[in-house]
Amino acid sequence: MRWAFVGASNIASQWMVEAVRSVGDEIVAVVSGEASRAKAFADKHGILHALTYEDQLKDLGVQAVYISTTNEKHEASVVHAAACGLHVLCEKPLSIDLASAQRMVNACKNAGVTMGCNFHLRHNQAHRLMREAVRNGSLGKLVSVRLNHSVFLPQLLQGWRLKDKAAGGGVVLDIGVHNADSLAFILGEYPAQVTALTSNSGMGEGLEDNAMSLWRFPSGVTAFAHQGFATPFGEKGIELLGTQATLKGVSMLDQGAPGALEMMSEKDDEVMQMQDRNLYTDVLVQFHQALRGEPSDMADGEAGLKSLAVALAILESATSGAMVPVRYHSNLNAAVQ
Ligand code: NDP
Repeated sequence: MRWAFVGASNIASQWMVEAVRSVGDEIVAVVSGEASRAKAFADKHGILHALTYEDQLKDLGVQAVYISTTNEKHEASVVHAAACGLHVLCEKPLSIDLASAQRMVNACKNAGVTMGCNFHLRHNQAHRLMREAVRNGSLGKLVSVRLNHSVFLPQLLQGWRLKDKAAGGGVVLDIGVHNADSLAFILGEYPAQVTALTSNSGMGEGLEDNAMSLWRFPSGVTAFAHQGFATPFGEKGIELLGTQATLKGVSMLDQGAPGALEMMSEKDDEVMQMQDRNLYTDVLVQFHQALRGEPSDMADGEAGLKSLAVALAILESATSGAMVPVRYHSNLNAAVQ
């Protein structure tokens, strides 16, 4: 398949060029708002066309676009791609408000194109094993979940994320959406209510760089989710606590580390190392399966929208001090399909 990249971004350069090529696809063009950035990106990655307008994609035989501009720019590019009949893989968070995300999902649906949201963490093997454990009841009744996802934002990424609200900066939109997607994938449901506190440790320049939240799911399960930008030695794991066993995942929320799972019960503890794989390649593999109409674990546009809804509810709760219902679009069922 022939792709165009919209956004000469770090994530595109560091992970997605390789991921797209690893499944045998071709990147024929990159579009940037700045000609010099487009050219530098194209030269670095051996891409034929360096463009400054998405309109220039027509006649290049492009079939899909990967969009990794800053978050406030995603909508225009998704809607443009859908109007051109191109399949879309869009970065998370889909957008910065729910109405915009809904327009993006609708545009792709109406155009009959496939829409994916680049949630790679759900492809970590620990996520699948946790999902199986929840489904087969091996933990007994699931009571609660603890998710720790406080990182140290690398220097390279310490730009708009820390100071630009209009671009969707702040740790909640950046990492909170990952957490919502991970828990929805594992539990098979999205939270109905959340309550949250945010803070700024000094890394954020006017925006929150730390957020702790409590979620209540329709099944009655409660979860704690922590996301942060300023802590180099935070654990990046998920713990499922059931009435008969606890399944603890360590380092399972990393781009590059596979992590491990520990099962704790009356039997001897069992530790399982996870497979080391490029999770972004898995996104591409699942994207192709979705394109072919085969069962796919890809996060689709609606998954992107729902994870955004959770993040927006966290921000609303942190502002109001109240527990808030998560408002998903009225046409959308809050349960994972
Ligand atoms: P970058 O800051 O690297 O790039 C975002 C945009 O900033 C680019 O599209 C580019 O615009 C512009 N830009 C890049 N370099 C410069 C520069 N030197 N001067 C001025 N502008 C510049 O963003 P990230 O790669 O960190 O994030 C991009 C998107 O990907 C976001 O939506 C983010 O949330 C998401 N992301 C997702 C991850 C995942 O795991 N799924 C991980 C990391 C990010 P232009 O295109 O016009 O050149």
